[in-house]
Amino acid sequence: MSGNAVRLQAIKDVEAYVPPAVSYIDAEAPGEIYGLNVFSKSVMQRRLPKSVFKSVTDTIENSAPLDPAVADAVASAMKDWALEKGATHYAHVFYPLTGLTAEKHDSFFEPVGDGTALAEFAGKTLIQGEPDASSFPNGGLRNTFEARGYTGWDVTSPAYILENPNGNTLCIPTVFVSMTGEALDHKTPLLRAQQAMAEQAERVLRLFGHDPDRVVSYCGAEQEYFLVDRHFFLARPDLLNAGRTLFGSKPPKGQEFDDHYFGAIPERVLGFMMDTERELFKLGIPAKTRHNEVAPGQFEIAPMFERSNIAADHQQLLMTTFKSLAEKHGMACLFHEKPFAGVNGSGKHVNFSLGNNRQGNLLLPGDNPHDNAQFLVFCAAVIRAVHKYGGLLRASVASASNDHRLGANEAPPAIISIFLGDQLADVFAQIADGGATSSKSKGKIRVGVDTLPDLPTDPGDRNRTSPFAFTGNRFEFRAPGSMQSVAGPMTTINAILAEALDYIASDIEASVAAGVEFNAAVQTVLSKIIIEHGAVVFNGNGYAEEWQVEAKERGLKNLRTTVDALPELVSPESIKLFEHYSIFSERELNSRLEIALEQYVMSIGVEARLTLEMGSTMVVPAAVRYQTELAQNVAALLAAGVDADKSTLEPISATLASLRAALGSLAATLKAEHGHDLAAEALFARDALLPAIAEVRAAADSLEGVVADDLWPLPTYQEMLHIL
Ligand code: ADP
Ligand code: MG
Repeated sequence: MSGNAVRLQAIKDVEAYVPPAVSYIDAEAPGEIYGLNVFSKSVMQRRLPKSVFKSVTDTIENSAPLDPAVADAVASAMKDWALEKGATHYAHVFYPLTGLTAEKHDSFFEPVGDGTALAEFAGKTLIQGEPDASSFPNGGLRNTFEARGYTGWDVTSPAYILENPNGNTLCIPTVFVSMTGEALDHKTPLLRAQQAMAEQAERVLRLFGHDPDRVVSYCGAEQEYFLVDRHFFLARPDLLNAGRTLFGSKPPKGQEFDDHYFGAIPERVLGFMMDTERELFKLGIPAKTRHNEVAPGQFEIAPMFERSNIAADHQQLLMTTFKSLAEKHGMACLFHEKPFAGVNGSGKHVNFSLGNNRQGNLLLPGDNPHDNAQFLVFCAAVIRAVHKYGGLLRASVASASNDHRLGANEAPPAIISIFLGDQLADVFAQIADGGATSSKSKGKIRVGVDTLPDLPTDPGDRNRTSPFAFTGNRFEFRAPGSMQSVAGPMTTINAILAEALDYIASDIEASVAAGVEFNAAVQTVLSKIIIEHGAVVFNGNGYAEEWQVEAKERGLKNLRTTVDALPELVSPESIKLFEHYSIFSERELNSRLEIALEQYVMSIGVEARLTLEMGSTMVVPAAVRYQTELAQNVAALLAAGVDADKSTLEPISATLASLRAALGSLAATLKAEHGHDLAAEALFARDALLPAIAEVRAAADSLEGVVADDLWPLPTYQEMLHIL
């Protein structure tokens, strides 16, 4: 089919499409299917000998090392359970730095001499795997001659059954490391960072008189995404290969009417949502809210928060599930941060808090002075962490695709600041006041004496323009991209909190050792922090021009692009931080920088080549056809003696000429010589390729407004965003 025929057929197919029926709600109550496919604690309790169960629980809850004898018993119970659930294979699931999920499948069944097969699954198979990992990015950490990577079971993240029409698989969440123990994945550093944070948080809790349980970090990730009909998706090589449209002008009806946000969910989408929730429930993923987002065709799902490492696993699983179920429902699910230019993009808001069952949420303000002081300490830790390591936080969300979103007045700016809300900001201001002039104090709030005024716990009044907002009992990091793993940001947050809590604990300990009364010591450290790091607190409008200027005056970094942000990973402060808390070695950090740069260069390279190809083979021919039609029309009119104006041809001819010129310069740019180290290639991608792509697009998009609709080859924004 020629270009426009594909588009027109897609429209017909969409109109004729009948979505699959979803009727599970009558058949099964959500409560009955929840966790059905999870080797959960309650399953273990039922199936494991008491002592084994106790030992595993101790590992899960208190990070006690896993006893190898216990592993055999767990493996055996897990195998029996999985076989009953129809599993034939097991897979160590890991999270390589591609950002995707990888699995190595092995059969449970091993042939025995007599021609039959026996289901085998030993403890050591459960605990460790050896996938051939040479094709995963490792940033120089692994030579091909030692290409093996090792996977190791993350005991704290439950195993589960993944159902598939071709057979079920027992999936075991694992870390993925090199032969020398270097992290090749997203999970390993998160577990390390979580442990570092826990140790320091528990130190602080002990100072407040607790005998604390293991502290963990919690993460609840709100996921935004777009759905488009699959027929349109397939007729769009850019969506298919780059995840975003490289052509397309803004629809006449966009999000300016704001009628989509929290509007009624289209029936077909609702069917998809019900289906996904059913699958997520079976996997023990607590899907909770669903609604429309700002842009047409855009939606959001927010599962209940969980321990960060489990939330990260579940988040990956959620994205995989959404992709495959969207296909089942005749749609494509887009996780790209900016699939449609000029239309609101998608983010992943990472809500986080820390605590445990016994000491509760440590970011919850309390009712009595003692609890309040403790709350303020944890809050101050966040302030110090975000101020001192704002650049690192920015780097943790840096990608070619997220650059389209950050700073585009729909997502937080690239400047990392904290929103505390007026009341809490005022409390800290008073503490700074009181602390600074402690001898002749006119400070209003005295730690350990005053309870905090009731702080708003209603997230309704929070500031949507802030990248890092306090929302009553947690912080919401709003800069992460919709397609990235939450593990990176959560690793960074845990690491920088470890440093801040360490600083606070050491400071209080030193004061107390010097004879200072405990509350006074707390007051002092709080005021020191707010004086030194208060510049990061900003309650105003993050989208405003003035903020860019003010932030600069405050000394906050404004790292606009990935190329600016990534070097933060290997700054001296970053290396010191991550090495000190044994989260990353310098080598591991360098490898991560290299991989991130590589991905940046690759994805912009793909976009450049696609733009050239689509521009040359789809847009130019359509414009030429239309130009010919017009020319024939003018000629025919002139031949008939009718007064015809050649200037009719002008708009199309001029724009077509600029498109050809832009394509020519993009082709030349793609061939141009540039430095061959990664940093130079990244700069070239940003400063030469992206502008050349934009130039092609500008010309092509204005042709879209000129060329006859029946000749236009690409599904339009109007069609993709409004037909579901
Ligand atoms: P909103 O859209 O108002 O931000 P949502 O209900 O869509 O709120 O999402 C809020 C997210 O924050 C959910 O994933 C929720 O589980 C999570 N969350 C709530 N409390 C906490 C907490 N204490 N720690 C971490 N995440 C939390
Ligand atoms: Mg939200």
